Amino acid sequence: VSTGPTPGPVPRATERPRPTDQADVRRHNAALVLGCVSEAGPLSRARVAAHTGLTRATVGTIVDELIAGGLVSEQGTRAPAGVGRPGTDLALRPDGAAGVGLEINVDGIVAAVVDLGGTVRHRVARSGDLRGRTAAAVLRSAARMVDDAVAAAYDLGLPVRGIGVAVPGLVDLGEQVLRLAPNLGWTDVAVAERLRSYAVTSWPCPVVLDNEANLAALGELWTGGHGSTDSFVLVNGDVGVGAGVVLEGRLHRGSRGFGGELGHLTVAPDGPECRCGARGCLEQVAGLDFILRQAGVRDAPRTGEDAVAPLLARLARGDERAVAAVRQAGESLGVGVAALVNLFDVDTVILGGVFAPLFPWLDEPLQAVVHRRVLSAAWAPLTVRPSRLGRDAAVIGAAYAPLRDVLADPLGADASVA
Ligand SMILES: [Zn+2]
Repeated sequence: VSTGPTPGPVPRATERPRPTDQADVRRHNAALVLGCVSEAGPLSRARVAAHTGLTRATVGTIVDELIAGGLVSEQGTRAPAGVGRPGTDLALRPDGAAGVGLEINVDGIVAAVVDLGGTVRHRVARSGDLRGRTAAAVLRSAARMVDDAVAAAYDLGLPVRGIGVAVPGLVDLGEQVLRLAPNLGWTDVAVAERLRSYAVTSWPCPVVLDNEANLAALGELWTGGHGSTDSFVLVNGDVGVGAGVVLEGRLHRGSRGFGGELGHLTVAPDGPECRCGARGCLEQVAGLDFILRQAGVRDAPRTGEDAVAPLLARLARGDERAVAAVRQAGESLGVGVAALVNLFDVDTVILGGVFAPLFPWLDEPLQAVVHRRVLSAAWAPLTVRPSRLGRDAAVIGAAYAPLRDVLADPLGADASVA
């Protein structure tokens, strides 16, 4: 019994795809072309067609759109190879888009503008111990720094496509709420929403919140220059210790997005009490507070950009107490890293944050513990290396996150916003 509306004509197989599908195909192809130019460029249109498997006509149309959108530029004139007319090579335009990154950490705030090529174009840091300060006070000054970064990007002629915010705690990605930051003493703070409400200017793009170690790991993956390494753990050291686990090129967040809390891995069940309420967490025996205290460094700001400078000076002149303190932290880190390697079989660990400059002193004790504790160590050696992004991995990851969206969908709805 047919009482419903008369069904429309059944599309024939030879009909053109519906507009949405066509649009999807076009966007997919655009991402393919831009990805190819970005990773392998400068390249001729013909080479792009060969690399992507698209027709030269399709590549030509997409390239025109990408050039119009400011994401790709034509470079000089190549000498003709054999027969045929001379052509131009296509390259990614680094200034075609930019992201603003904001890192709110225990020891200060950093804001940066990163362009599509992964270069930091503007950076401002404010050091200061944020423990005990209210979220409102911190977010007000952070919003001012974002205001300035957006203005700096504008002055540089960089279209801002998004603002990424890194925070040292558990982030509810769906609700965009910082659930808990033990070292700051903050709970349930809607960071992105509040930053916007404190801003002086209206930001013309999305604001996205994420965990700082996760963003640091993504910063390493996207711009860290680690070549073909697509499975690694980034261990980010500061007052707190965090980890971002990247497996086969993807950040492993866990089922609710709260994974990677290496700093709260128990390494000494009866050890010192942690800000999280538990005992013997890794960051209590490997974090910056522990290292400075053990090293007897008191003539330095305990936080911020300069916190490790006096420590590094002592290490450089072979100060025994400083060396012992860092080695002790390295052994504790080794216990945490061994647990990660036993679980995930990653072959590379990247030490970021304050651990990057301390790498020469951390490496040997860390590796010795890993060798004793990792079952597969004899057959599967672990590479440990310092991050080249150092303490900026998280803010760079935060700034670059919206640019990944541009690369994934260069002709997306907001692609022409400048
Ligand atoms: Zn803890």
